[in-house]
Amino acid sequence: MGDIVFQNTLGAERQVFVSLHPGQVRMYTCGPTVYDFAHIGNFRTFVFQDILRRFLRSRGFEVIQVTNFTDVDDRIITKAAEAKLDIRDFTAKYIEAFLADQRVLGIKEPEYMVRATDHIEDMVQLIERLTAKGFTYVSDGSVYFRISQFPDYGKLTHVDTAGIKAGARVDVDRYDKADARDFALWKAPKPGEFVWKTRIGPGRPGWHIECSAMAMKHLGETIDIHSGGVDLAFPHHENEIAQSEAATGKPFVRYWLHAEHLLVDSQKMAKSLGNFYTLRDLLEKGNKPSTLRFLLASVPYRRQLNFTQEGLQQAVSSVERLRNFATRLDTGKFPEGTSALSEGAERARENFERGLEDDLNTAQALAAVFDVAMDHGAFRQGDVAPVRKTLENFDAIFAVLQDDDEEKLRSIAMEAHASIPSNEKIEELVAARQVARKTRDFAKADRIRQELANQGIILEDSKDGIVRWKRK
Ligand SMILES: [Zn+2]
Repeated sequence: MGDIVFQNTLGAERQVFVSLHPGQVRMYTCGPTVYDFAHIGNFRTFVFQDILRRFLRSRGFEVIQVTNFTDVDDRIITKAAEAKLDIRDFTAKYIEAFLADQRVLGIKEPEYMVRATDHIEDMVQLIERLTAKGFTYVSDGSVYFRISQFPDYGKLTHVDTAGIKAGARVDVDRYDKADARDFALWKAPKPGEFVWKTRIGPGRPGWHIECSAMAMKHLGETIDIHSGGVDLAFPHHENEIAQSEAATGKPFVRYWLHAEHLLVDSQKMAKSLGNFYTLRDLLEKGNKPSTLRFLLASVPYRRQLNFTQEGLQQAVSSVERLRNFATRLDTGKFPEGTSALSEGAERARENFERGLEDDLNTAQALAAVFDVAMDHGAFRQGDVAPVRKTLENFDAIFAVLQDDDEEKLRSIAMEAHASIPSNEKIEELVAARQVARKTRDFAKADRIRQELANQGIILEDSKDGIVRWKRK
């Protein structure tokens, strides 16, 4: 096995990966802002992070990964107020949904999945540290980070800081992507808003301070890998570096990895263009979890991923081909002996590893596996074990071979998908309705009919008393 090389956004160069603590990788990944269901662009990044952690695990590293839920921000406050809910209650639904989506996509759960609102005290402490070192100022009850005080500001993205007006501030959670300004660490309360009463005054945290506080609390002051979507690099990650390094005087992150955008039909995904998909939208259209995972994983994370119908079709046939091949290995009878395929399998394994070592070049890794997973007439019994091993190595990272799509769809705890009931469950309800009708409990019978209808099941009562059902 060779060195693992990453394209580090910090320094914009390829670097051999060496973990700070031997045998252990400490990694932070910016998680979702839980005011809505996560979309397929978000999941492009989360699948990449899963590939990354699986690969590091396969190389023998212990991985300690922290992902946050941003469960307080402007949008959450507005939407929770509209729903007349406390922000914890409002966000709980989307946190649940995210965890379910994550399972459906085969994304391993990080060691820590933490809520920002559970870390207010850690954020307050961090802000106090910054204040003690002279990096903050207060204006109208909000605490700001003074970026002119931090000469390294901009080192990640090389944003031009020359035009910064002294004291120009921004305290909303949605940022202008072009210009660097002093940002709010702690925000003064607006009328009617829920506030935390703290030593630095009443209010709520800014978005950036969350990640610095949670990363350092669980992973230490210097962490190995920080990753996220490329749109987070500025200002979010730049601000994370400023806050963390100003407070500790130590490097915050050693390797910054950023996943490129996902486009839909070559366009930026936007609600106004009608090409905006949550994971759930795509499942409702009949796409399988394995198809989506495969497609998202197949394009190396530093390249833009163009999400198209054609790409989905290709992913369907790729997964099918691999599954069929694996089944044939398990069930086929082959002549005794070995062929050149045994050696080919070993070579494929090496190329697979080499692809992933090269800044997670998943396309190259996949090509190596498809070289082996072809219907070779010359296949011998002795080839089964080495070829199987290649497939196992592949699936430890890509996780699509097991045919559990139906099960995953059923497990997702959303009405829409809980609504793909099994035949057994339908028969059970149909029988219960028959009993209700026989005992003249028509209210109950109607209720069951309605329940089935909600799940897309249509009943047909025939004259002979037999009930047929079909899926809409
Ligand atoms: Zn973050």
